[in-house]
Amino acid sequence: MNLVRIKCPICDNCDFNVFKEVFDDRYGEPNKYNLARCTNCSHISTYPRLQQQDLGPLYTKYYPRENINYKDVLSKVKFKKNFFTKFLNWFQGMNNLGQLYAKKNEHVLDIGCGDCSSLIYLKKLGAIPYGIEADINVKSIAESLDLPVHFGSIDDKPFPKIFFDLIVMNQVLEHMPAPEKTLNLIKKRLKQKGRMIIVIPNKESFWQKVTGYKWINWHIPYHLHHFNRTNIEKMLCKYHFKIIKSKTITPNVWTILQIRHFFHNCKIGEINNLWKKKESKNLKKEFVPNKSKIFKLFIKIILFSLIGIFNRIIDAFRMGDSLMIEVQIRN
Ligand SMILES: [Zn+2]
Repeated sequence: MNLVRIKCPICDNCDFNVFKEVFDDRYGEPNKYNLARCTNCSHISTYPRLQQQDLGPLYTKYYPRENINYKDVLSKVKFKKNFFTKFLNWFQGMNNLGQLYAKKNEHVLDIGCGDCSSLIYLKKLGAIPYGIEADINVKSIAESLDLPVHFGSIDDKPFPKIFFDLIVMNQVLEHMPAPEKTLNLIKKRLKQKGRMIIVIPNKESFWQKVTGYKWINWHIPYHLHHFNRTNIEKMLCKYHFKIIKSKTITPNVWTILQIRHFFHNCKIGEINNLWKKKESKNLKKEFVPNKSKIFKLFIKIILFSLIGIFNRIIDAFRMGDSLMIEVQIRN
């Protein structure tokens, strides 16, 4: 094992042991990376750890958002709140998004707002949305929909006059080179009783244990930190946040992707077809019912239901794929 020097955001130790060579098994970024473990607290980091200035070019070049258009995003955002849709969201594990917990009239900041669908949802809810995003591929969407998105990072201190009721980070903190710095900046932007909801992959999840290094949430080199419940809570407490709620949620679509990814032979520098963004024209196919199609649909519904039941059991034991933590500033 090689000893390398990077800073641990949990315990400030700077010695990490490299233990596994890894690569981008989704989008074909051609370099080799490693997983490295903190010699003091066992926190796992990607090594070499990319820096803030590397992220914009990396995402713009390799993340598959260049063909995105605002009409696709608009049609994707569903806003119906009744018992049935809430149940369906829960059963599918689609309730792992911080914006779903926003309230009307709240000022909400989504850090890493991606294709802006969260901001559209917040607008429909009657909240006042703001976004921060590193990938300039989505700039045209923000402009078309007249959404206030800052392209850069929270380090730039965007929207300086606004304090937020809710700050959301959906699958974002693990992408940040120095998450501790982000937490410190967020503290200054929250209202006194403001909340922050963080959603991150859970390194101790059931599916990670089953699939090992083919777990889809290693997501190298985009994920720079690999948290579990213990060390994320330790880090939040260290930066003066108190935990209000904490649970795991496993989206069923992740599990379907995970199973397919597990059997896919990934090669370094090659784009994995499984993760290619589908063209919108291919999404809607006319369904002409015949016996074999109905049978296939029936099998899919059964499999999807079984995955749903299984994932909800895993989540009940807090071993799900994503960790959702709600915090407030500790007085
Ligand atoms: Zn450490």
